[in-house]
Amino acid sequence: MWWFFSFEIMMSSNVRFKHFGRTVNHVRSVFAARNVGRYQSSKTENSPDSNPLLKYLTMKIKATGPITVAEYMREVLTNPFKGYYMHHDMLGEHGDFVTSPEISQIFGELIGIWCISEWISGGKSKSLNLVELGPGRGSLMGDILRVFNQFQYLLNTCDISIHLVEVSPKLSEIQALNLTEKSTEAKHEDTSSCYKTGITKTGLPINWYYHIQDVPSGYTFYIAHEFFDALPIHKLQKMQDEWREILIDVDPDIPQKLRFVLGSSCSLIAKTFVQADEKRNHVEVCPEAAIIIQKLANQLTKYGGAALIADYGHSGDKEDTFRGFRSHQLHNVLLNPGTADLTADVDFNFLKTMAGNTVSFFGPITQHEFLKNMGINLRLKVLMENAKDDTMQKHLMQSYDVLMNPDKMGKRFQFFSIFPPGRLEQTSKNKYPLAGFTELEMS
Ligand code: SAH
Repeated sequence: MWWFFSFEIMMSSNVRFKHFGRTVNHVRSVFAARNVGRYQSSKTENSPDSNPLLKYLTMKIKATGPITVAEYMREVLTNPFKGYYMHHDMLGEHGDFVTSPEISQIFGELIGIWCISEWISGGKSKSLNLVELGPGRGSLMGDILRVFNQFQYLLNTCDISIHLVEVSPKLSEIQALNLTEKSTEAKHEDTSSCYKTGITKTGLPINWYYHIQDVPSGYTFYIAHEFFDALPIHKLQKMQDEWREILIDVDPDIPQKLRFVLGSSCSLIAKTFVQADEKRNHVEVCPEAAIIIQKLANQLTKYGGAALIADYGHSGDKEDTFRGFRSHQLHNVLLNPGTADLTADVDFNFLKTMAGNTVSFFGPITQHEFLKNMGINLRLKVLMENAKDDTMQKHLMQSYDVLMNPDKMGKRFQFFSIFPPGRLEQTSKNKYPLAGFTELEMS
């Protein structure tokens, strides 16, 4: 059972405060970012002369008409030349937002334990692809791999390879620096579709891809932390009995200013993605998430494995969640495109519907519940006992509080998992209780 082997890892003082330095400042940043956000008037000019992306978008809109919010989001976040994610590191104290793996190493360690637990429950497959979608700085993967390294039985009996799906050249460079001694750009004549390749510091093969479709098939664990919220959404508004799409246009009175307008005809996106029994008057749908989740569901059904998705989200009950973050403050989404993160809450019900009925789901449950079930209290206790001084202990307590406190990240962030057919029955017979989603407090 998972808690026996994880107990050993939990008690280990070998898993050191390797990234401890990332803890203290971020604690303050998160608090500011997620809880006391307010609209900030942007100091940099919002003009096409100083913002090439705004110039490109206004020219495009003038030439071909208003664009969808999804197209706007895609350009703003991942345009190869000026997209927000493409050329700088936005994570952490000096960036725009912080994430749980950046706050504490415990977060990634517990996800590492979750993977090992599922590997055991799933029959100890002889090979394992560990895929992370949108790995940021690579901190989560680094913490997972450190846990794997503690569990020799896994390394000796399973052929493990790491696959990162990352669109950003800058972030993939940072990931390679953090996770490998040396990585190389994939050669053009190489037929494989990865763009970078290397060996992790713990000795496992690691590859980078732009699209999940390019990742090789096989028994796979998919991990996605704060990835789905960055995918482009369409915004749809119900007007009488008809769904119309919200578009982005140039304000006719102020030429460099963008504004929302209502599309004139019933949206094809609405016809495809809005369920007949939808009760809300405003919905956000994400076709890219639908494609990715269908790919995951097909792979899990065919080859086995599991998917763990953690994000801020809801179960199909929220309406307008589209927002921007810059320097840990809320930021007007239409202002200064490319200089702020754009995000929308993940609709877990939408993911379930799109994944279809060949797979089973657990969650969403809150981050607080998941981490508690995974034994965060015991891990904290061990780290506190091994901490060198009061300052370190204080930092540990602060980061624990940010992750767990329902008023901070504890409640807003949700964990959701997808499994191949059969896993649900095993759990209900209590043969292999599902780590993280089954209440088991180890302290
Ligand atoms: N998971 C990390 C980073 C979250 S930020 C953490 O929690 O710290 C979102 C990540 O997704 C970044 O690495 C970003 O570059 C990546 N990303 C955003 N859109 C993407 C897309 N369409 N395809 C692949 N990666 C994407």
